[in-house]
Amino acid sequence: MGKKIIVRVINNRMQFKCPSCAARRNYPVQPNIRSKNIRCSKCQSITRCTLNRRTTPRELSSGKAIMLTNEGKHIEVNIHDISIDGGIGIDIPIAAARARTVTPGAEIRFNCKWNPRLLGSGSFKVINSNGQRLGIKKML
Ligand SMILES: [Zn+2]
Repeated sequence: MGKKIIVRVINNRMQFKCPSCAARRNYPVQPNIRSKNIRCSKCQSITRCTLNRRTTPRELSSGKAIMLTNEGKHIEVNIHDISIDGGIGIDIPIAAARARTVTPGAEIRFNCKWNPRLLGSGSFKVINSNGQRLGIKKML
């Protein structure tokens, strides 16, 4: 019996990583295929691969977004809460907080795959900052 794994497919190439020996190799796959047996080119073990064609990266899940600063920095942040009047609470990484990368008054933008209408367009202004927590508001 071979092992079973889930393998991501990007541009019709499956990103195979052998569960037995960790060897990596990409294989082309047809668009309509859902699973495929792969024989590892290194250790020869056979793995049953279920193909995952999700287009958004798994690590950028709901609640996370990429914050873009005016200085061109890209920082992954957690969207903590979204209030009705347009104020939003976000958490930035501790390193960014210590470096005071973003301070009140700064203009920022977002790249947010799970809610592009909310955060994907327009600029926001940092209203306040308290450690890793920033309060921001959409600029009209
Ligand atoms: Zn292998």
